[in-house]
Order: sequence, then structure tokens, then C-alpha cells
Amino acid sequence: MKLHEYQSKKLFRNHHIPVPEGHVAHSPDEASVLAERLGGFPVVVKAQIHAGGRGKGGGVKLARSLDEVQSITEAILSRPLVTPQTGSQGKKVRKVLVEQGLDIDQELYFSIIPDRSTAKIMIIASRAGGMDIEEVAASDPDKIIRVLINPLTGIEPSHCKDVVTGLNIPESLADKFSALVENLYGLFIKSDCSLLEINPLVITKQENLIALDAKIDIDDNALFRQKDLLTYRDTDEEDPLEVEASKFNLNYINLDGNVGNMVNGAGLAMATMDLIKNAGAEPANFLDVGGGADEEMVENGFRIILEDENVKGILINIFGGILRCDVLAEGVVTAARKTGINVPVVIRLQGTNVDKGREILAASGLNLITAEDLADAATKISEIVGK
Ligand code: GDP
Ligand code: MN
Repeated sequence: MKLHEYQSKKLFRNHHIPVPEGHVAHSPDEASVLAERLGGFPVVVKAQIHAGGRGKGGGVKLARSLDEVQSITEAILSRPLVTPQTGSQGKKVRKVLVEQGLDIDQELYFSIIPDRSTAKIMIIASRAGGMDIEEVAASDPDKIIRVLINPLTGIEPSHCKDVVTGLNIPESLADKFSALVENLYGLFIKSDCSLLEINPLVITKQENLIALDAKIDIDDNALFRQKDLLTYRDTDEEDPLEVEASKFNLNYINLDGNVGNMVNGAGLAMATMDLIKNAGAEPANFLDVGGGADEEMVENGFRIILEDENVKGILINIFGGILRCDVLAEGVVTAARKTGINVPVVIRLQGTNVDKGREILAASGLNLITAEDLADAATKISEIVGK
């Protein structure tokens, strides 16, 4: 689950991590009231969307007067914001963060992520922070430092020292910087983050350390024990079909192609998507209905696939283990009757109760195309959507 910048900064404040003073506004008028309260210029107006690169897309602007706050907020809210991370259609901006502007001396990069290959927590940092960090990582990887922390023993003073030395932090700020790293690590662990990123973490001309930007992702698998953070979920920022699917515990990701597919098991779903691509077509989604899916889940999955207007055909690939083929067949038939399928459906079934499943499909009178094996299924569906 992604958090907005203003939400991440709220968590920062709670953990004694310095952030600029600021508040969220939903309209130009509200923005200027908040700007006035900050008591000085410049003020920074920042689009709040679940995507980075806002600075490059014109979603972060300095305002030097209340009039500018008004006009900048109006401009940001009036059209979709296109950044290197949003795709060409951009993202609708519903709110802005109005913040006190800072006198920046240096922009650093700082992040914490779980590192799967070492099974440790990794701090990544660089002196070359700011909007071009991706280019720095590609062209100048030596400018990036990495510090690994064993999550079982936690962060130790030596880790903080490694970061401070690696970033060449001036002596006068060393203790403050170490305390900051420790606090950030504490927040990362306590909130079950899968990403915590500050770019830029600035040193101001007055020699203060401040998190100018803030990005936090929470591990979805930990949300059951992060109930307080659930209130931060912003479904406006998520794909509507993915939001719908999450209500039924379906693992669904919307993609750009036109072959809808329903599969049980994430590995089989990935393999099915590869086969669709190999056969010359493009998957419209990833959908793992799960090993223990019931008829209702199958029905909801089918309905969600059909709600995607790009879908020109559906491939159902089920290996019946715990999810029996007859349960799947019942679900598909019910869903097809209720939604009135308007696209061809190719089905490949194998496993427990496969004969019973096939009987149900055949007796339904629906126009369902059965496939012999996986390759046959992929070829059939790609021929259909290719027409
Ligand atoms: P992002 O582009 O989505 O990562 O948004 P950021 O919050 O990182 O802002 C982009 C850039 O705007 C930063 O790298 C800064 O250079 C600049 N910026 C943001 N806030 C301030 C500020 O208070 N003062 C100044 N001078 N620049 C700022
Ligand atoms: Mn940033």
C-alpha cells in the first residue's frame, strides 16, 4: 500500500524526523489560507499523487506570493499530472501539500528497503540526491552507498557511522544524522514498510537536516497488524478494477493487453501470461484466483475481467488441485449467465474432477471453447483476438 507524501511526513513527525511545516489543501482558496498561516515566502505547492518525478512534470512549484499560491494550485489541480512515472495519460491531482520553502544547501538521497538476496534490511544513500538520482545510479554507481542491517539484531551505532562516513557528513551534523538514521530505521520496522525513501534529504543553509520529500510503501501482507495505517489507503489513486478485486481477496493486476485471463496459482498465472505473449497476444491482466477459490470468487474474478473494456477474449487456465474443476466450471457458468459474456472464452482444465467440470461446461449451452493443453489454449485465444 502506497502512502502519499503528506501521510509519510505525518509518520515522520511522529518519529521525530524533521520535515518542513505544511498542510494539505483541496482547492486554491484553501491553499492560500494555509500558505498565509505559514507566515512567509517562498511557499512550495506539491501535487499529492502516488507517483514520483513530480518535480520534472511541473507538480512541485515555488510560490512567492499568495496570488502565486492561488494560480499554481489552480494549475496543478486543473489537469492530469504527467511525470516519468505516471504514463502518458498522467494522474488526476485531487490535493496539494502547501509547505514552507527551504534554503537548500545540499540534496542527499536516502532510502531503506528489504534486500531479498541477503535477507537483510538495506540502507541506500548518496550525496548526489535530487531529481536525477536514477541517472546517477546508472552512470555513477560509485556515488551510491549501501549498508546492510540484520533485522534480527537491529540497527547498531556502526551502521549509522557507515552512513555518515559514506555520505561525508560534516562533523557538526554527525550525531544528528546518526540519530535520524536510527529513527528512520525504527519507523521502517515498526510500520512494516516495504520502502522508505527521502529524496531529497536536505541540509539547509542554516545547517538543519530536513526530509524535503517522503515516500513510504507499506507491505500489504502486514496490513492486518497495521490497522491505524489502513486509514491512509487512498483508493482514488488505485486502479478501480484492482480495488474491486481486493474486496474479494483476488490477486488481480490490470495490464494493457486484450486477453483477459483467469488462473489458479501465481506461478501458473505468470506462465500463462508468457504463453499468451509467445502466441503473439498481450495479457489484459494478471489474475490468480488462488488455490482455495470458491464459486463466488471465480464468479467475481470473471466479472472483473469482463469489466475491462480492452478485453477481446478470455483464457481460463485451471489446474484443479484444491480448487476442483467442477467448482470452477459452476463459477464460470454462473458468472457467464449473470454478466452475459460478450467475448469468446477459451478454457483449459486439468486435474481433480476434470470430467465433471467439462460436463458442466458442455451442458451449459454457453459458447465456451475448450483447449487440449496450454499451448493449444494460447494459440486459440491469440487467433481469436488477432482477428
Ligand atoms: P519529486 O520530484 O516527486 O520527487 O518531488 P520532490 O518533493 O522531491 O521535489 C522536487 C524538487 O523540488 C526537489 O528535488 C527540490 O529541488 C525542489 N524543492 C522542493 N521543495 C523545495 C523547497 O522548499 N525549496 C527549494 N528551493 N526547492 C524545493
Ligand atoms: Mn523527490
